[in-house]
Amino acid sequence: MSEAYDVEVRLLAVTPNPETVIESAGRLCWDTMDKTGTVPDRIQRWLEIGHESMIEHASATFFIRGSRAMTHELVRHRIASYSQRSQRYVREKDVSYVYPPEVEKSEVAVKVYRDAMDAAWEAYGKLLVAGMKPEIARYVLPNACYTEIICTWNFRELRHLIRLRTSPRALPEIRAVASRLLEIMKEQAPQVFEDM
Ligand SMILES: Cc1cc2nc3c(=O)[nH]c(=O)nc-3n(C[C@H](O)[C@H](O)[C@H](O)COP(=O)(O)OP(=O)(O)OC[C@H]3O[C@@H](n4cnc5c(N)ncnc54)[C@H](O)[C@@H]3O)c2cc1C
Repeated sequence: MSEAYDVEVRLLAVTPNPETVIESAGRLCWDTMDKTGTVPDRIQRWLEIGHESMIEHASATFFIRGSRAMTHELVRHRIASYSQRSQRYVREKDVSYVYPPEVEKSEVAVKVYRDAMDAAWEAYGKLLVAGMKPEIARYVLPNACYTEIICTWNFRELRHLIRLRTSPRALPEIRAVASRLLEIMKEQAPQVFEDM
């Protein structure tokens, strides 16, 4: 179900050679840096015993597009850097909102949802015409409104976020985002994310 959400998650940047950087940091502690790269599961074994701080030396930056409801939850993760499209300075010219697949299950819900979105954007447009700045008119826009955000997390925070947000208890849309983050990170740094 969560995979059906129309979200975009794109990797913009990642620490070069992240596994080497992380293993070097861990090995520095025991003066075995010369053995870096000789034990394939070295990082996983450190993670198993809770020796996690060395994975903070690598980070990744993502472009994410989804609803404001979803990004509101994302930015609760505090060990991070965020830059989000402004609704104060940027006009929401297009009617652009996330359509939860769950709504499709009910004809009544489909109609209520679409009517609510149309009404919100109509009110937004009328407030702009009435001379309101976007920062005031936006008060009538819904949580479903699409937004764009660039997020930078270190690998420790990424593991924490992915663990919490891929849980069946998490919001389906953020599960779709977290699942995609995990797919990308398994490609970028399998030695750090392979157990997830
Ligand atoms: C299923 C689910 C339901 C939720 N429901 C609600 C809800 O109803 N209402 C609500 O308000 N929130 C809710 N949340 C959000 C949740 O409470 C956290 O704010 C969010 O998941 C961020 O995670 P975090 O606090 O562990 O850590 P992050 O901000 O990601 O930080 C990572 C870790 O750093 C440490 N840390 C960070 N800051 C501090 C600090 N100030 N002091 C001590 N340690 C710190 C902690 O160990 C923390 O786990 C929900 C989250 C989930 C996954």
